[in-house]
Amino acid sequence: MITLGTRSQAAMRGVHPDLIRVIKRAASIATPSQDFTVLEGVRTREQMAVNYGKGRTAEQCETKGVPGHYAQPTLAKVTWLNDPFKSNHGQKADGFGHAADIMPYPIDWKDMARIRALVALMKQAAKLENVPLVCGADWSTPDLDHFELGI
Ligand SMILES: [Zn+2]
Repeated sequence: MITLGTRSQAAMRGVHPDLIRVIKRAASIATPSQDFTVLEGVRTREQMAVNYGKGRTAEQCETKGVPGHYAQPTLAKVTWLNDPFKSNHGQKADGFGHAADIMPYPIDWKDMARIRALVALMKQAAKLENVPLVCGADWSTPDLDHFELGI
């Protein structure tokens, strides 16, 4: 069992209770070497616009309804959404965000073994909680830290 820190607890605020159950179950079955942290849960429109602007020009932003001042073309792209505001991190009709970004702790984006182990742990927890879970790591353009409720 690992303990979710205050940062993780704060990041889970507003996330759908089913996804929170999965995360808490994952924490309860994790070994100390499988420690993880919740980086981000619900995103505001502002945060979605900031993310969309990364790696895009003002023109590319504006064609998708994101004001041009969010454009930061020199940064690496972080989202490939067709609609910048359709992220499952956004607040859904049920009032909750349906996605959370979770990474092994300490964070090392190059440690694929630990990332894969966390994905496996989250899948195991989802099964135990009987919650359909989609892992961004399984996508054709992988989003390694991304987990969301399946529909
Ligand atoms: Zn995400």
